[in-house]
This record gives sequence, C-alpha cells and structure tokens, in this order.
Amino acid sequence: MSERTATTRTIYLDHAATTALDRRVLDTMIPYFTTEYGNASSIYTLGRHAMQAIDSSREQVAEILHCRPTEIAFVGCGSESDNLAIKGMAFASQKKGNHIITSPIEHHAVLHTCQYLERFGFKTTYLPVDEYARINPDDVARAITDQTVLVSVMYANNEVGTIEPIAEIGRICRARKIPFHVDAVQAGGALPIDVAALNVDMLSLSAHKFYGPKGMGILYVRQGMRILPQLQGGSQERGRRAGTENVAGIVGTAAALQLAQEELTEVTPRIQALRDRLIAGILQIPNSRLTGHPTERLPNNASFCFEGVEGESILLNLDLLGVAASTGSACTSGSVDPSHVLIAMGFPPEWSHGSLRLTLGKENTEEDVETIISALPGIIEKLRNLGI
Ligand SMILES: *Cc1c(COP(=O)(O)O)cnc(C)c1O
Repeated sequence: MSERTATTRTIYLDHAATTALDRRVLDTMIPYFTTEYGNASSIYTLGRHAMQAIDSSREQVAEILHCRPTEIAFVGCGSESDNLAIKGMAFASQKKGNHIITSPIEHHAVLHTCQYLERFGFKTTYLPVDEYARINPDDVARAITDQTVLVSVMYANNEVGTIEPIAEIGRICRARKIPFHVDAVQAGGALPIDVAALNVDMLSLSAHKFYGPKGMGILYVRQGMRILPQLQGGSQERGRRAGTENVAGIVGTAAALQLAQEELTEVTPRIQALRDRLIAGILQIPNSRLTGHPTERLPNNASFCFEGVEGESILLNLDLLGVAASTGSACTSGSVDPSHVLIAMGFPPEWSHGSLRLTLGKENTEEDVETIISALPGIIEKLRNLGI
C-alpha cells in the first residue's frame, strides 16, 4: 500500500483489527520494563513486587468482569485464550463426550481450533445464523446431545458487528449443564461484560482490541470448570498457562480494560452517532447494503456490501486518501475468498466480494466521517465502470 507523507493524517477506521495503545496505559506499563523487572516467581523483593502487580491486576480485571480473581488467567493473546478454552475443555471432557457446538461466523481462532479437534475424534455442529448473522438460542437447545461437552459462541461478530443473545444461550447451557465459552474479544471495549449476568463459564478477551498492548489475552474460567493446560512447563497462572509472566503486559491489560469499561458511557454515544451518520451517508450509494444486524450491533461497526465491486479495490482506493479500513476480517484480507461470515449469512458472491468494514474508535471525528461519505460514492462508481 502507498506511503503516507508526514503531513497527511491517517484516518484510522479499522479498530476491529487493532487499536493504538492508550498513553495512560503505556505509563502504567513502563516501570515493569525498566525498574520493576523481577521474575514474579522469585522470592526476593523485586520478584514479590512483580507478583503484587500481577495480583492487583487480576483483582482489577475480576472486579470489572464480576468474578473471582482466581477465575482469571492472563494468556498470550485472544487467539490463545480461545484455544485454551476450547481445547482445554474438549481434552478434559473426552470421557464425557466428543461433541462441540459453535457457529459458522466465529473468528478463525475458534473455527480452526474446532477443525483441529476433529483430528482427535471430536465432531462439530455449526448453528444456523439468519441474514443478520444472529443465532437463535432455540437452535442451541436443539443441537445439544448427550455427547455435547462444549458450546462456543461469540459475543459480537468481528466482521459485521452483530451482537449475539449470549445471556439466553448461557441460560440454556446452564440448565443442560453444558460448559459455555464466549469469544468476547470484540465486546471488550464496546459492551459491558458481566460474566455472571451473561451466564458464561469461559470468556476470552484480547487487550489490543481495547487500547491495550498487543500479545495479551484474558481467559475467564468459572470456578469448578476443569480445563487441561495447553502449554506445559512451570505452574504460572495456577497451572493453566506455563511461562514467565509478562508483567508489563498484564498491568497494561488490566489498566486498558478498566479505562475502556469506565469510558463506555462517555465514548459509546459519541461513536454510535458517528457510526449512524456513516451508515446513513454510505447507504445513499446505489446497490449498497448494510451487513449485520440493524440495531443489535457493536456501536462502532459500520459494514457494507456493494454489488459488483471488489472489496480489495475499495481498500486500495481508500488507502490513497489515507483511510485505513478493512474488507471484513484482517485475517482473510489478501485472499480472494469471500468472507465465511457473509457466506453463512446467505450473501451471493456478486455481493459478498464487495464488502467494506469501517470500525470507529475514540479518536475519530465528524470530519473523518464526512471525508469517507464524500469520497466513497465516486470510488464505487469508478470501480463499477472499470468492472473491478
Ligand atoms: C482479534 C480477534 C481474535 C484474536 O485476538 P488476537 O489477540 O489478535 O489473537 C479472536 N476473536 C475475535 C472475535 C477477534 O476479533
């Protein structure tokens, strides 16, 4: 993609892919890179300081998620959190059964993990989703068998922003005594997360999706749930994840989660207003559609399909204007395959190839939004005329 000159500001509209580290979060982390560098397993003062920082970060996270500190494990990223929850529960439950229920719109960290487990004799049922990517909780109830050992459904979709009925699905799983895992990575900076109210048994978060450091994830595991560790070695994180703790990362993760959740009531209405303006403006383009649920959607997600256009071509043209956006998930851009999410929602190829995801963040302005709204119609028209 083209080089930006120093004077042109990037209009960053890809907050579902990652976010910039908040300066205030960075400030909390720096001492643990420089002066407080002890290994948290060491018994001398420097080590104990590191352990105290980890302990208080764990308490901070537990308070926000409404759970016990012992139910929180810090891991290496959102993908690792999903892997540990799903493989950890599947391998711990092999004597009980071999059936996993998930949805076809999950992140690849969930989908590829379920596929991997099929090599070990596990079977996966993919729940149906409607045209808005919503799951019907009744379908979860219908899919459960006497072999089911895990249900995994995401809180909010990373491509189209649809929010799933997690509390209702959780209620069904709880009644049938089936462990329920939720990939809440996209919700961490956008929705309140109360593991008790959501009726979940395991929940995954990733710090870099809410202005925290990259390479840090959280896994909540409800007390009484047994999972097998997927990384062998020392007994860090109560034996759930070996490896010397990333103290700076852990401190930054807790600080970022706290800031993100505290600022929800102030930030959300502003971002949502920008999103609604974006949606209204962009839907003026002929043969365009909003993807995802019209109301049950993340406050920062504006995603679309344009008939007869290639999403990649839209991105390259936006990049020339200094706009960073996505066709859907960052993991699939670069490949010409249409998104698995849009396919599951029933979009035909002539629509699903032309997807565009704009995800707002707290630094975006009305001017950013107006720039997109005035530039996009010309880009789409040009590409349609060129037939790309
Ligand atoms: C980004 C993302 C992940 C992966 O998190 P990483 O920290 O990047 O590994 C998992 N699930 C969803 C829904 C995501 O958006």
